Amino acid sequence: MTKVKQFITDLGPAGWNQLLPARQPQPVLENDIEADYLIVGAGFAGLSAARRIMQLDKRANIVLLEARQVGEGPTGRNSGFMIDLPHDVSSSNYSGEANQDQAQISMNRTAINFARDMVDSFQLPAEAFSAVGKINAAAGKRGIQSNQAYARHLNGLGEPSRMLDAAEMQSLCGSDYYQGGLWTPGTVIIQPAMYIRGIADGLVEAGCRLFEQSPVTDLIKQDEYWRVTTESGSVKTSKAILAVNGLIENFGFYRRRLMHINLYASMTRELNEQEVDQLGGESTWAFTPADPLGSTVRRISGTGGDRLLIRNRCTYEPNLRLPDDRIDHIRADHDRAFYARFPILKHVSMEYRWSGRLCLSRNHVWAIGEVDKNLYSACCQNGLGTTKGTIAGIVAAEMACEKRSESLVSEYTSEALPRKLFPEPFMTAGARNYLRYKEWRAGREL
Ligand SMILES: Cc1cc2nc3c(=O)[nH]c(=O)nc-3n(C[C@H](O)[C@H](O)[C@H](O)COP(=O)(O)OP(=O)(O)OC[C@H]3O[C@@H](n4cnc5c(N)ncnc54)[C@H](O)[C@@H]3O)c2cc1C
Repeated sequence: MTKVKQFITDLGPAGWNQLLPARQPQPVLENDIEADYLIVGAGFAGLSAARRIMQLDKRANIVLLEARQVGEGPTGRNSGFMIDLPHDVSSSNYSGEANQDQAQISMNRTAINFARDMVDSFQLPAEAFSAVGKINAAAGKRGIQSNQAYARHLNGLGEPSRMLDAAEMQSLCGSDYYQGGLWTPGTVIIQPAMYIRGIADGLVEAGCRLFEQSPVTDLIKQDEYWRVTTESGSVKTSKAILAVNGLIENFGFYRRRLMHINLYASMTRELNEQEVDQLGGESTWAFTPADPLGSTVRRISGTGGDRLLIRNRCTYEPNLRLPDDRIDHIRADHDRAFYARFPILKHVSMEYRWSGRLCLSRNHVWAIGEVDKNLYSACCQNGLGTTKGTIAGIVAAEMACEKRSESLVSEYTSEALPRKLFPEPFMTAGARNYLRYKEWRAGREL
């Protein structure tokens, strides 16, 4: 029997979820039930796995267990860039090796098409999923150089992109902070909580049983079955998929092979009409930073009104624990970056501030596979969880259904294990120093 370590919460509210009307969650698991397939975790990976199983095994009895309410975890805390292109956050300009990047682009696009198909089937609003591309915004010379290097790399891969000058950036976002940008067409911008809630509700309507606020506490192997228990119920299942990203370590797998990173975001209060006019620019846009360690900025307009979001700072947290006052320390970095870009909004306060987790491996591989008989992992999305989590869910579902030969993601071939971390204290000290150095180097892009 594996005792699953206590679930760790994130700090602050999941801002995207706060913008939406209250939702009636699915019930807590309160009985002993049975399933053909059990999926733990209702994030990008878990929900995609459920959808893929439904396609491959139409009569399957599928149960999903989620520790919190849908959209409260990292799925409702991310910046919403469902990116089709290489996005190596540990590089200086997102590029990787050309042949690996080609395969990654192809897999990312499969994930985006798979997501689009769910969005269409479950009739999600346009605001949840907009195929508008993204801009790598550059605030200074180094950012411009990163964009140029990335554009050359994309050109070599046969991928289109377009450079924007300072005037175009200003007419788009209303700020003269940026000196240039690199637009690429294939990224889908999501309202993360609207997307994930819509997919979860659609799957329930299609026949999945989802139990929310039902954290798994024990995992027990019983002959041919797995019994997964929560505080008030249990599921006896033939096959189980763990779609919990870095928290798979809590289940006893991939220990000391995963790097837990925390990111932070702040979202303004709703802007009034006068502020919208003063700001100028377009009503929605989405900027990733030209330097991967810089600030992501989004302008949104829709449910929850007109607002801006800023995301920066990145910390390494080996024990998945954050001090309670971490947001208070990050607040100054967000405010400095925000008001430098939008001095005209210096009186506009932040309404929501939050932290969230992602998971990386040293060798940039997923933690996907059969970790015990009939027990599968769909974890470690290496930062790009919207697309890579979707792929992990698809692949783990195909493994569980024994249908890899009919795979949607044939480019995914068995990868190496996530490489072991360095011994402590070198790992933590090294990772933290590396991140601080990269943030310092990001300069005006941060
Ligand atoms: C501020 C921020 C910005 C980001 N921006 C982007 C972005 O723009 N684009 C992008 O692609 N990625 C982004 N990410 C990363 C992305 O959010 C994650 O990679 C993604 O959420 C991973 O998806 P997942 O389904 O694998 O895991 P998760 O989203 O973490 O979902 C796993 C689920 O499992 C549940 N769970 C865990 N343990 C248990 C248990 N014991 N029992 C039951 N349930 C359990 C959790 O509650 C959670 O809901 C960002 C992350 C942060 C924090």
